[in-house]
Amino acid sequence: MRKIILLADMESFYASVEVAKNPSLRSKPVAVCGDPKLRHGIVLAATKEAKAYGIKTGMAAWECTKLCPGIIFVRPHMRDYIDVSLKITEVFNGFSDRVAPYSIDEQFLDMTGCEKLFGTPEDMAKLIIKKVWEKVNIRCRVGIGENPLQAKMACDRFAKKNKDGFFKLTHDNYAKHTWPLPIRDLFGVGSRMERNFLNIGIRKIGHLATLKKEDLKRRWGINGEILWLNAHGIDYSVIEPSISMKDIRKGVGHSITLPRDYRSKKEIEVVLLEITEEVCRRARSLSKVGRVVNVYCRGADFDFPTGFSRQVKMSEPTAVTMDVYPYVLKLFYAYWDRKPVRALGISLSGLTDLQEIQLSLFDKKEEKIALSKAVDSVRKRYGITSIFRLASLSQGGLLFDRANKIGGHEA
Ligand SMILES: [Mg+2]
Repeated sequence: MRKIILLADMESFYASVEVAKNPSLRSKPVAVCGDPKLRHGIVLAATKEAKAYGIKTGMAAWECTKLCPGIIFVRPHMRDYIDVSLKITEVFNGFSDRVAPYSIDEQFLDMTGCEKLFGTPEDMAKLIIKKVWEKVNIRCRVGIGENPLQAKMACDRFAKKNKDGFFKLTHDNYAKHTWPLPIRDLFGVGSRMERNFLNIGIRKIGHLATLKKEDLKRRWGINGEILWLNAHGIDYSVIEPSISMKDIRKGVGHSITLPRDYRSKKEIEVVLLEITEEVCRRARSLSKVGRVVNVYCRGADFDFPTGFSRQVKMSEPTAVTMDVYPYVLKLFYAYWDRKPVRALGISLSGLTDLQEIQLSLFDKKEEKIALSKAVDSVRKRYGITSIFRLASLSQGGLLFDRANKIGGHEA
């Protein structure tokens, strides 16, 4: 059976959230710009009005001012973006039970078998665009495909560029639409692979498609094979919700976009510990313990997005940081591809009331949680930096930055 896979992408997501929050910014050139000290004032997102001046993601603040003297800079509010992203997931959960976030502003929906409810794939796309606008005032674009790769290509190469905001690729029209495109437009081709291909005369996606898969595999290994499959619109992956909305509602979570790419294990471990601490603190403040821990990681390479979201059941429910942390590390190292990391998140689900844990489970747990709660109450009075783990002082620690940002006034 042919599948119906949609990829919904939010236009200029961070900037759009800021505009939705403050309508006086609408139709103005706005750039969301990180802390000058942390990211050298680099643009994280810009409205289409700012883009019209040539402003792009990754540009330095001073360059923007030069291109557009009237540019309005807004500082990022990560917590708002996470909240809006979850609201959008909620909208999508009304359409399908197979929704998988791909990044903070992109989510896949498997709509196979939903035609009786929502009509053609094009009808589904229009309805989704409308519903997202009604719910969060953000423009959404939809790529339609028969697998996730086709949906992603349809979105990035066509839906983002046309007026309707949606486009459909199928096994039948994939070659016609994508083969004339430059090779860099193929999903998975970064600047290095583009150079490799150009060196041997492969300028268009169609050129790559006509080569033999075995030759590409011999030359570039598994990556060569995947790119050949991509050129043919072949992708066997399925959309499986990584964490269901129910788990999120029943759980507590926290995620962070890092101020720069993190490469070393030591730095990453510090941040994972800080996030674990925050998640456990939230669970404790609700007097809950969790049974399932989920670790989310996103890679830093925009050309070839990587990452994972995986969960594991712990041997017993807990909200003690140092009980949860070993599971977090184990999950992280099991799935991390050793490439630079840009975002990390952890959630605790399968929550039960602390009081409900059976006595047999206790082994000093009550004491440990009581101690943790005492620490929490000190922090509540004197700020989260009043008591902290020594690791947070080491390189990579974000607690002190977060105290001012996500956990503090700006959020
Ligand atoms: Mg986007």
